[in-house]
Amino acid sequence: MVEEEIRTFDDLDIELNESLIRVFSTMLGIKRNVIIADREQWAVIQEVTTLREKEKLFKEIDNNYGHCDAKNGIIWLNPRLLKRQYFQLISTIIHELLHIANPNWSEDQVFETERKMTGRYDYEPLYRLGYDDD
Ligand SMILES: [Zn+2]
Repeated sequence: MVEEEIRTFDDLDIELNESLIRVFSTMLGIKRNVIIADREQWAVIQEVTTLREKEKLFKEIDNNYGHCDAKNGIIWLNPRLLKRQYFQLISTIIHELLHIANPNWSEDQVFETERKMTGRYDYEPLYRLGYDDD
């Protein structure tokens, strides 16, 4: 798809993402190394093997800001929604790191803490509107 090629993270985006993750991880007391996966790697992590399953997964996650595998300390960030959208990028990274730092927290706890940390009170998260977004 041409759309994918237009909106991917470039080297500078990746450096920014990695720096933000390192700094916020330190601030949140996360001792482990947090890894960023791209979309293809995320499919592997989700154990999606067939092309059809992969298309289905991509269709689902393409409307999410990010996902994380809290157990293994892996984050996927959606370049389509986050590239050059810095406030949203920072909020999403904090959100996913809160899941990793607090794997037993509910989505509401993570979201409310994200709001407190970012001062963001101007939107409702997708999951509260009935979309899967963790
Ligand atoms: Zn979440």
